[in-house]
Amino acid sequence: MFSFSVAKQDKLARVGRIETSHGAIDTPYLVPVATSASVRTLDSFDLKKLGAQCVLANTYHLFLRPGDTVVKKLGGLHTFMDFQGPIFTDSGGFQTFSLGLGREHNINKLGFFPEGKRSEQKQKTLARVTDAGVHFQSIYDGSRHLLNPKSSMRIQRNLGGDIIMAFDECTSPLSDYDYTKKAMERTHRWALESLRYHDRKQALYGIIQGGWWKDLRDASTKFITDLPFEGIAIGGSLGHSKKDMHAILDRLVPQLDERPRHLLGIGEIDDIFECVARGVDTFDCVMPTRIARRGNLYIHPESGGRVSNKFRINIKSGKYKDDGKPIDPHCGCPTCRSVSRAYLRHLYSINELSYYRLATLHNLHFMLSLMGQIRESIKSGTFVKLKRKWLKG
Ligand SMILES: [Zn+2]
Repeated sequence: MFSFSVAKQDKLARVGRIETSHGAIDTPYLVPVATSASVRTLDSFDLKKLGAQCVLANTYHLFLRPGDTVVKKLGGLHTFMDFQGPIFTDSGGFQTFSLGLGREHNINKLGFFPEGKRSEQKQKTLARVTDAGVHFQSIYDGSRHLLNPKSSMRIQRNLGGDIIMAFDECTSPLSDYDYTKKAMERTHRWALESLRYHDRKQALYGIIQGGWWKDLRDASTKFITDLPFEGIAIGGSLGHSKKDMHAILDRLVPQLDERPRHLLGIGEIDDIFECVARGVDTFDCVMPTRIARRGNLYIHPESGGRVSNKFRINIKSGKYKDDGKPIDPHCGCPTCRSVSRAYLRHLYSINELSYYRLATLHNLHFMLSLMGQIRESIKSGTFVKLKRKWLKG
């Protein structure tokens, strides 16, 4: 069972609801990432406490560990990880990039270098793409595997998610026009194959590729939206800057129909506002949980964030050594209601495991609560005002 309805629209921003047999997702929504059937450092009790409506698990990682057939034998992901809400699974297509050119050149999807500078030490690529599929080498034990539309659909069926993704080739910001075109055409052939092989009880999203070239994005949008997918995902390289990403969405989203729209792998606070304003319904991003583990905690821009990033504080800073305030006085998460910045800094500095859970609880609660505020603002026609308030300066 799958349906989507838009309740209210404010310019292009829209509030809607995705219904699945495991419950509903109120959109816009940032889907917490549970790569290996776990939102890192949290358990299913925490997810319930946070009111997480859905999660997204990773096909490639679960295929390798513990194996999709193991998950199937144990009742599928909902039972295996004890999460009864809707579950998305990605297709493994992103790993064509992350284990290929992304790994080789140490870059992310927007061409940024994760640690701020290009790594001098290039790593060996672990993915090779042909028309037959993607030949992977496991990051865990070096074993070799082939993923293609047929096997990706089989793995996603075994995992048992509610919303699954077509198998695609995610290209790199370093790919040139000719290669991006070739990869896009391959993605289109794989979209047809994914439709042929997927389990019809699962909702299948098609993925638009085409890099940052207007004609390719137009062609891919036309091709994918003409097919009977339940939802549309936007994937691949979105240019070399946030400005490029906005330009791509400005062009692409007005060409889409009513079906739900998912933007793959995006989820910084400013990105959420900019992409919701352009009509995106759901996102998935490891950012809130990953940065929490590295000491970066979200904060309302008026609660005193860093000069370099007003949405974050770095709990490692010496200035929090005896700071008795919660991370953010405006936050109602279990962490902010119970412990101080000084305590969290202390836990971090002695590498205490409870830090990771407390920090992740805060960052995830912060983002899910922000998504709730965004939905309310669209309903009441004040989204533009809310966006301005958060992004000003
Ligand atoms: Zn908090």
